[in-house]
Amino acid sequence: MEEREVINDTRGHVAELLAKAIRQGALDQEVTSEDRERMLVFLQSFGDLRSDYVYVGSRRAGLKRLPGAGEVDEEGREPLPMRALLDASFWPGVMFEEGLDYQATMFQPTGGMDRIPHAFAQKLGKVVKYGCPVREIRKTPNGVRVVYTERGAVRSLEASYCVCTLPLSVLKATQSDLSPRVVSAINQVAYDAGYKIAWESRRFWEQENNIYGGISWLSTGPISLESSVLANVWYPSGGMLSEKGVLVAGYGTESGEFSRLPSMEAKFAASRTAVEKLHPGRGKELTKPLYVSWAKIPFNLGSWIRGEGYHEGPYKEFLNPDDRIYFAGDYCSHLTTWQEGAALSAQRAVEMIVRRVRETV
Ligand SMILES: Cc1cc2nc3c(=O)[nH]c(=O)nc-3n(C[C@H](O)[C@H](O)[C@H](O)COP(=O)(O)OP(=O)(O)OC[C@H]3O[C@@H](n4cnc5c(N)ncnc54)[C@H](O)[C@@H]3O)c2cc1C
Repeated sequence: MEEREVINDTRGHVAELLAKAIRQGALDQEVTSEDRERMLVFLQSFGDLRSDYVYVGSRRAGLKRLPGAGEVDEEGREPLPMRALLDASFWPGVMFEEGLDYQATMFQPTGGMDRIPHAFAQKLGKVVKYGCPVREIRKTPNGVRVVYTERGAVRSLEASYCVCTLPLSVLKATQSDLSPRVVSAINQVAYDAGYKIAWESRRFWEQENNIYGGISWLSTGPISLESSVLANVWYPSGGMLSEKGVLVAGYGTESGEFSRLPSMEAKFAASRTAVEKLHPGRGKELTKPLYVSWAKIPFNLGSWIRGEGYHEGPYKEFLNPDDRIYFAGDYCSHLTTWQEGAALSAQRAVEMIVRRVRETV
């Protein structure tokens, strides 16, 4: 089903029902007579109802045939039956783009999200040390010592303050002198295991279905809302009309039916099947599959903080420094899972250090 059909046919059916209820007097206790009239006018326009308040379909929901030249006139669609639209499992997908974080108009960095940290790195130049994994974070009488390895050699750096930006999943396994309150908070946090499966393909979704970016959702199967709240098929939003593109089929968490797939081959097969369901005959066009599991990337060990209750619980412990160790990362913000949260928390940590230094000189 197309999103415009789902949204506008649902609106039409609901508007018709509400108009019926108002006209039969079922809402007389709730709505004044003046507002009843105003409500009917509103519903007619909101649901694209006929003058007798009946919904018989709307151009907003798309057309069976587009208008053309000569004899070719447009042909409307029959509305989807309301019964089919009441499938609760598919509404989270339909409403996804109405979430505040996904509303139009969205910008994206050309070349992908990681162009943002790359741009920071370029500005910072030699300040950034690459290939130096941190092994220990130690407190010293007047500051902090960070122990790391560089090409196999153990080295250390001392400073008055440290802003620790390791993900908590990594910090958990890093030796440190962190206080018991912080260690306990870290241990309460779990990360989701996000994954993506990507393929190279002819852009059949653009060429045949007029899909330019955006998401398709399935309600059953390993790559569906049934398996994880996010699982979906994601179309590229750049390079439109070029010959080939990268199709992400699926993007979700390694949970539910998906997590029980026994092998990489089974995951790729499930991904191909999902695309085949959405675009019959096109599953076979997918080539060069790639699987990324954030839980297995040693410097991530998970995709994002899991679960309810985080901000009411462990979160509070990371907002204040542990002696001279400050914390920054998306997990120190109310924008967990967004780079914006990481950037804002870094600014906050630096501001706290500046204030502390000013107060002590
Ligand atoms: C699949 C997926 C899709 C996402 N999509 C978006 C999106 O579209 N837009 C958006 O804004 N956000 C997105 N996010 C979220 C975004 O990636 C995070 O919010 C952001 O990266 C968090 O920044 P951070 O600095 O807190 O942590 P990170 O980006 O994880 O930075 C931590 C850094 O520490 C390094 N590190 C780890 N261990 C060590 C060690 N031992 N020694 C030295 N360095 C170490 C890591 O290499 C990394 O560079 C997505 C995340 C995932 C997983």
